[in-house]
Amino acid sequence: MNMREFLFLALLLGLLLEQGCVPRYREAQDLSKPAKPAAAKVMFFVADGMRPDLMESYARQGFMPTYLKLMDEGVRGDNGLVQAFPPNSGVGWYTLATGAYPAQHGSTNNTFHRAGEDDFNNLTSYSMPGVLQADTLASAAERAGKKVAQIHWVGGVNAKISGPTVEFGHYFSNRGVLAAPFDSSEEASAGAFGVSYQAAFLAPARGWTQVPAGDPSAPPRQTIFTIPTKNPAENPDRIYDVYIYDSRVDGIPAYDRVILVANAYAKNGSRKSADLTPGDFKEVKLRGVDGLTGTRAGQTASFYIKLISLAPDLTSFRLYFTPVARVLATCATDACHALPPGGTGEDRLEKYIADHLPGYILSDLAPLHAGIIDEDTFVQQGLELEAIYGNAVTSFILGTLQPDTDLALVGYPTPDEFQHQFLGLITPTDMDGTPNPCYDRVRCKGALDHRLAIREGYIRSAYAGADAKLALARKWRGTHPTVFAASDHGFAPHWYAVNAGQILEEAGLQPTAQTANCRAGGAPTRAKACYSGATAQIYISLSGRDPGGVVPAADYENVRNQIGDAFRNLADPENPDKQVVLKILKKEELRNVEGSDSLHPTRSGDVVVVLRPPYQFNASTPGKRIALTPFFGSHGYLPNLVDLPHQVNMRGVFVAAGPGIRKQDPLPGIRAVDLAPTIARLMDFPGPIHARGKILFNLFPSPGKMGE
Ligand SMILES: [Zn+2]
Repeated sequence: MNMREFLFLALLLGLLLEQGCVPRYREAQDLSKPAKPAAAKVMFFVADGMRPDLMESYARQGFMPTYLKLMDEGVRGDNGLVQAFPPNSGVGWYTLATGAYPAQHGSTNNTFHRAGEDDFNNLTSYSMPGVLQADTLASAAERAGKKVAQIHWVGGVNAKISGPTVEFGHYFSNRGVLAAPFDSSEEASAGAFGVSYQAAFLAPARGWTQVPAGDPSAPPRQTIFTIPTKNPAENPDRIYDVYIYDSRVDGIPAYDRVILVANAYAKNGSRKSADLTPGDFKEVKLRGVDGLTGTRAGQTASFYIKLISLAPDLTSFRLYFTPVARVLATCATDACHALPPGGTGEDRLEKYIADHLPGYILSDLAPLHAGIIDEDTFVQQGLELEAIYGNAVTSFILGTLQPDTDLALVGYPTPDEFQHQFLGLITPTDMDGTPNPCYDRVRCKGALDHRLAIREGYIRSAYAGADAKLALARKWRGTHPTVFAASDHGFAPHWYAVNAGQILEEAGLQPTAQTANCRAGGAPTRAKACYSGATAQIYISLSGRDPGGVVPAADYENVRNQIGDAFRNLADPENPDKQVVLKILKKEELRNVEGSDSLHPTRSGDVVVVLRPPYQFNASTPGKRIALTPFFGSHGYLPNLVDLPHQVNMRGVFVAAGPGIRKQDPLPGIRAVDLAPTIARLMDFPGPIHARGKILFNLFPSPGKMGE
């Protein structure tokens, strides 16, 4: 061939290599491969919902010193990375873990329908067992003999590895408040959000033993509350007697202290569960005979209790209890087998953490939306308590249980939770420049809250919390791991909810609108919506495909067009000029959504609707097409939707630094699917088998030498 042809071929080969198109067996023939892996230890850290632009801004301002150092020493993506579609947790985490798209890993959104299974009412959550259909980086590493740990890594349990894995918790009860004075509007709102509201009657204390008498000028009072179970087979309703007294004997009546005793202990203060002053937020461990019951008899669980307020004259009183919970953990290593055994079927790591470390806790939006707790309490739960619990677990696993971990996958939930609540409250205008009615107004009407700086501070504290968690995790046993820091999706402010069921009803596809996500409406439901954030997948009840399907195959296309028209014509009656819908896709178009292969044969919707900020689908109002929401941030828009002046950035974080990573300028074109294959290559083991991403050779010190 002549020089021209040679150059063309070289260019073509280069392009193929870039795309990861060259078969993997070439690796075995690669003589330039270094004898040792470029990175012996890797920490893969994912902060849920972290926006790359906000991370960079906080890092520059000094609030995220660990990320700043990593960006300084290594590389970041130019506006991070692009996630798979839709950029929601149920998609993003699995995409990072597998290097595959939803078409392969099977998690098409946070909540989705599985066509052909059960009846048309079926609903699958991304965290359910068996959802994951693709190989993970964690499994691939273990097959290669690496020691792997997954800590608060969403979807980690579904990877079914041997290494220590800690994920979400099990919840056994509801949560709520015991409050005085009684407020009927709070009670109604608590009911609407499914949380418990109990009136406190502060009667003179009777029959108590082993408790301080307190100041005689303020005779002790008592009240009682119940933590209502959600699962009576494993956890009873738990009743607590509450003793309220004035601990300072100074002749001035001023109630300032509360003691909690489980009802079974007959007001005996020596068996107290908690002793609280106003503001205290403490764990109550439930172990042994006080532990779980039934098949979980004797297993340890816990809840947290906060004395939100106690007026010295008892004119107001508020005690908040979180759900009875227990960490979910699995482990099958020798180190875990050496931990103390529990009951039948009880995982030893789960038992050890439940027994010896602070109880499982995460932030919880429902009590805040119901208006029964304040923003500070919500933030304290998600930030301070999470840190106490999460840091203990992280340090135990990476410091004590498995200090020779090669690959640590560590997650952090809080940026997602805080942005869901606060992002829209600090954003003055929509993308179209029109004013946000909820800017600094949590009720979206009336006087301003004057809490802009405080709420921006909450979001910043969550980003700083991620930085602190990453700093803690990467220091395991003094090693200096290569760090990959990413996120599962970005964020946008929102303040409106679209009621997908209502629109399907008005289009004649549901006789009465579906009342719950992914559930059928009135019979015969011809189509239903399964949604999360800004993306709804609309599934048709198709005869011959779905058991009991009501739409004949011949009508399939008509019904799809009907759905498309219903959403295409969707206007906001109160804001007729606003664009509500960003994109409508037919199922086959999911093969390539901004590069993401999101076409799963049985789990993708027949029509998919993507909204535009400030609209999304969660927490809609029954009977209303569009209404304001009680929370103010979401994700699941198109993966490349970016409008930084309006706080919209759906892209995820990408930062990498440490051994094997070259210091360089920000890189464009990073995709979430590329991380798992790249980490596998750095650590010198074959990557996850369904991965569709490419190895990012451009991250490595000498790309020429490390190339295949
Ligand atoms: Zn979220």
